[in-house]
Amino acid sequence: MGKETKKIKIGLPRALHFYKYHISWEEFFERAGFELVVSPLTNQEILKKGVNLAVDESCLSLKIYLGHIDWLKDKVDYIFIPRIVSLHKKEEACTKFMSLNDIVRNTFPGLKIIEYTIDANKFRFEFFKILRTIFSLKHNPIRILQAYYYAKKKQSDYEKARIEEQTSKIKNKDPNKPMILVVSHPYTTYDSLLGKPITKFLESQGVDILYADIVDIKEALEQSKKISKDLYWTYNKELLGAIEIYKQYVDGIIFLMVFPCGPDALVINLCQNKIKDIPLSVITLDELSGEAGLKTRLESFVDILKIKKKKNGKK
Ligand code: SF4
Repeated sequence: MGKETKKIKIGLPRALHFYKYHISWEEFFERAGFELVVSPLTNQEILKKGVNLAVDESCLSLKIYLGHIDWLKDKVDYIFIPRIVSLHKKEEACTKFMSLNDIVRNTFPGLKIIEYTIDANKFRFEFFKILRTIFSLKHNPIRILQAYYYAKKKQSDYEKARIEEQTSKIKNKDPNKPMILVVSHPYTTYDSLLGKPITKFLESQGVDILYADIVDIKEALEQSKKISKDLYWTYNKELLGAIEIYKQYVDGIIFLMVFPCGPDALVINLCQNKIKDIPLSVITLDELSGEAGLKTRLESFVDILKIKKKKNGKK
């Protein structure tokens, strides 16, 4: 019997890009023959660790990311960190995404990282970059190519299924319930300490929720031009486009942003100036956000929507 080779362990921090791309990452690494370790849902300990590790000016999402890296660092051989500079020509990602690998390297000297850079402006595309990186770990090239193909397919099927689910939610909407569009980055919306308690609370108040990150990206990027033609942060453009697409179906919009976030602050300001006919609420989360005050604000917002709905009749 042949000796079984020990699989290389890859760590995936459950933060930032994870929430957007984890389906393809998990599929890719598992099919390519690696062992995956995903950090747990964000908890107070991870948050506290991240806050202590990060410089004060970092946004809360980056602090949480560092807390997840800290959780993983002694449990894996490598940590996977994509560096996203630009996904499309003449567009950019937030500077935190551009410098993520350097921030991690400086915070955790000696940490082994698998990284790749996507920079459409410099012809550095995901496919070639990730394959080159993984080839360097001497894995079977055919298996890696197959893994990449299946990973992309699974991600695309998953995204289509989520859009279909959201479309059917709109079609089967209960006319007595207010519908709210939650606008935030997936790493805020679905984080167990940030967006999750908020959406859970809204649902407990009898509200239906649409999520701005569940959208046809191509269409959203196109639609975003109706609100701003100059915006160049890709992920914010996607959210703006989603507002354009979904605003006709909802009674209110809630923006969730973490502190401090320049791109989100600017985009929210843009929306506040352009969208006048739908009630908007902005919730800014930091490490000190208290639950009680937040619930009162959400309750009042939902009450306003319910009263408005009663007055104007059902949509
Ligand atoms: S867009 Fe905002 S929240 Fe996201 S990483 Fe950049 S600064 Fe942080």
